[in-house]
Amino acid sequence: MVLLKNGKIVSDNKITESDILIEDGITQKIEKNIDYSGEIIDLKGNYVFPGMIDSHVHFRWGNPEKEDFVSGSEAAIAGGIVYAIDMPNNTPPVTSKEIFYKKMNEGNEKSKINLYYAYGVTENNYLETVEEAKVYKIFTVKSVGDLFISDYSKLREILDQNKIFAIHAEHKNIILENSKKYQLNSFENHCKIRSRESEIEAVKEVLNVLEKIDNESKNKPHVHFCHISVKEALDLIKTAKKTFKNVKITVEVSPHHLFLNCEMAEDLKGFGKFNPPLREKEDNLALLNGIVDGIVNIVATDHAPHLIDEKLNSVENCPSGIPGIETMVPLIMNLVNEGKISIFDAYRVLSKNPSEIFKINNKIEVGNSANMSIIDMDKKYKISAKDFKSKAKFTPFEGKTVEGKPFATLVNGKIYIL
Ligand SMILES: [Zn+2]
Repeated sequence: MVLLKNGKIVSDNKITESDILIEDGITQKIEKNIDYSGEIIDLKGNYVFPGMIDSHVHFRWGNPEKEDFVSGSEAAIAGGIVYAIDMPNNTPPVTSKEIFYKKMNEGNEKSKINLYYAYGVTENNYLETVEEAKVYKIFTVKSVGDLFISDYSKLREILDQNKIFAIHAEHKNIILENSKKYQLNSFENHCKIRSRESEIEAVKEVLNVLEKIDNESKNKPHVHFCHISVKEALDLIKTAKKTFKNVKITVEVSPHHLFLNCEMAEDLKGFGKFNPPLREKEDNLALLNGIVDGIVNIVATDHAPHLIDEKLNSVENCPSGIPGIETMVPLIMNLVNEGKISIFDAYRVLSKNPSEIFKINNKIEVGNSANMSIIDMDKKYKISAKDFKSKAKFTPFEGKTVEGKPFATLVNGKIYIL
């Protein structure tokens, strides 16, 4: 048994000063001034959030040189993350039940956080239902193997199901056209090739299909747009959210699209190469406003580790993706301290919305498993990749001073003091 004293529990538009008593991994009591003589951890007024969820990670199953379930989940704990959803673009791609369960069993055995898994949708397997899959992932651009919908006319049938889909929306044809126009010989050109139009058009393509489904079908698919990065795409989704009756739409943005832009491309080099790529300053602002006005439902990392040597390569030999699971919560809490978003906005995008969207019970309640992210809002520190638990020891946020740092992460009652 352990007593967490002097916490401030964050919930819907409310902060409650309270102690929390935990026994056998279960929250037993939530009250002020609990009398207890055993082990006590003084939270000293730190904020207690329902276990934070990162709905978009790549723990690199099959590529342990980049990350694995142990290092990835330890990085999550260090970053204040209690739950994550791992994406299916592995070697081999997670596009059959056999591979899905193989990965899941290994992940469940090794992961130190609560890990869930996405199932990869192909043009052949889209009717399959996988009981344990948290979400069905669709790529509209090439990822690995056949994990890619290259014939967009199939989207009508694929999306017309009562499932939750997470979509990586970049238009393959526009990227192809751009790569004829621009040579991949600078980091700026990576952004030009994977242009903002490629995201806008892919989102349009999907929304057009969803409009038909909304009008013609009895099914109620839920489409979750991953890492939306441009203002116009967000605007299109905003309108669709209001119009659709049966189809549900939610939006995720990634920290790197909130804080970085293509003016930084040549400075950041490989550490600023990811997909969708760096956008404009106006997009940073539009995404931030999206968090405040509620159009953006979730902030998730797209944590995508690579070997640092690969990332130091010239642009054409530099893989896309960066680690992010140890910097997201501090960066978001820093926004709270800067007054750009409220602590309740942070609570919504990191705890509440992902729990509702992906049906993960992270509630701080008596009788519930103790899963919490405890944040010291006053702790100032400099981000330094050498301290990462992730195998990917680099970050575009290197040297940035932020205020607000995870103090402790509780996973099923196990307390990690950070
Ligand atoms: Zn991803």
